[in-house]
Amino acid sequence: MLIKQLRLSGFKSFVEPSTLRIEPGLTGVVGPNGCGKSNLLEAIRWVMGESSPKSMRSGGMEDVIFAGTATRPQRDFAEVQLSAETDEGDELEVIRRIERGAGSAYRVNGSDVRAKDVALTFADAATGAHSPALVSQGKIAQVIAAKPVERRQMLEEAAGIAGLHVRRKDAESKLRQTETNLSRLEDLMAGLD
Ligand code: ATP
Repeated sequence: MLIKQLRLSGFKSFVEPSTLRIEPGLTGVVGPNGCGKSNLLEAIRWVMGESSPKSMRSGGMEDVIFAGTATRPQRDFAEVQLSAETDEGDELEVIRRIERGAGSAYRVNGSDVRAKDVALTFADAATGAHSPALVSQGKIAQVIAAKPVERRQMLEEAAGIAGLHVRRKDAESKLRQTETNLSRLEDLMAGLD
């Protein structure tokens, strides 16, 4: 998957709608300390379905909404739009929006979807909010100190099989539900005898 463009509005320090085009080749983002470089990486992680406020350097998820400054009022919502091209050459547009008191909503190519669908889309493309391709400050030290289980997770993400784990969990929960239904049915049938 090739991320081609990022559009942010009301997200962290990006109060005005801002567009970042990622052209083929190497893209560098430079600027003084605190200008919002890490916020851009967090925007990518967030639109891919990040659910942990901690990995967004936030206390709660709504903290990603522009909090206001001495001269500008806070915003009521934050929105990030990611445009990408899939490995199959299809256009992919994902939008995540959070409103104060209303939580997050996702759209993929114009249709409302669940957070889980977004996570699966990116997991299948061997990327996503926890992809080892997104290296934030302090992450290298974390990788070195990682436990074997965490290292395995990183390798699985890189190998593109993380999506299979999500599907396996889904299948297991459906199987359990079916087993419960079957045993209920058996009880009912025994009552009919
Ligand atoms: P450094 O080079 O120091 O790592 P950086 O360019 O990566 O800095 P970020 O850490 O991305 O900068 O941005 C931090 C800035 O974002 C701070 O000025 C902080 O006040 C601002 N910021 C973070 N969350 C919000 C928010 N919800 N509302 C307004 N501003 C925010």
